[in-house]
Amino acid sequence: MLRNIFNGLTDLIYPKTCLACKKKFTTGNNPGKALDNFICGPCRKNILVNLPPFCSSCGRQLDKKNYSKNTCGQCQRKIFHFDRAFSPCSYTGTIKELIHEFKYRNKDHLADGLGKLMTNFIKEYNLPISYIDFIIPVPLYETKLREREFNQAHLLAKIIADEFNKDILTDVILRSRNTGTQTELDHNQRFNNVKGCFTFTNKRDIRGKNILLIDDVLTSGATASEASRPLKESGANVIFAITLAN
Ligand SMILES: [Zn+2]
Ligand SMILES: [Zn+2]
Repeated sequence: MLRNIFNGLTDLIYPKTCLACKKKFTTGNNPGKALDNFICGPCRKNILVNLPPFCSSCGRQLDKKNYSKNTCGQCQRKIFHFDRAFSPCSYTGTIKELIHEFKYRNKDHLADGLGKLMTNFIKEYNLPISYIDFIIPVPLYETKLREREFNQAHLLAKIIADEFNKDILTDVILRSRNTGTQTELDHNQRFNNVKGCFTFTNKRDIRGKNILLIDDVLTSGATASEASRPLKESGANVIFAITLAN
């Protein structure tokens, strides 16, 4: 009670700036939900969650016309190296803004709230997390990691690993060249751009293991697919990928 009053007072003196719309807002007397400390109410409502049925390949919410096919229009022409991908949110609106803040503006403290969207999704849809042997965050190229100081995929992986008591392995694959930003590239260019950019390190025996690959966003699926390639070639059994948004 007293704490709520104090939080309310701090808000009056120092209203927060919403990380999505950049307007001032107050958290009121009920702060607590991890993301509510960073975004205003209207932006919270503007998080577009994916609802089933999901594409059995990339995890996007299916259009009615593709219900019977189980896969979305994009995936009917594509084969990925991972078995199946999932995302709690659609990559638009508030989530797009937050991911941008998270990655490029050093808002690493957003990891808790964003990771929670992923752990909630895993629980809500009963993803077979108990069969997962370990979690692998998609690695960054080393100079990029130095610039950014953290790998956003690794921060999200930590939240998931903690929640489900799994080990994270960061020495299984590495990114052996800098692929630059994919944002300006079209669908096919993205696949060509990342081709062969991940290497298996030979430090672990992953034969027969089930892996959960983590990244922040899945757009074309090229990065997650390419990161899965050396894992599959080295004997991994099932690879699921989960990203915050797609
Ligand atoms: Zn806002
Ligand atoms: Zn799809």
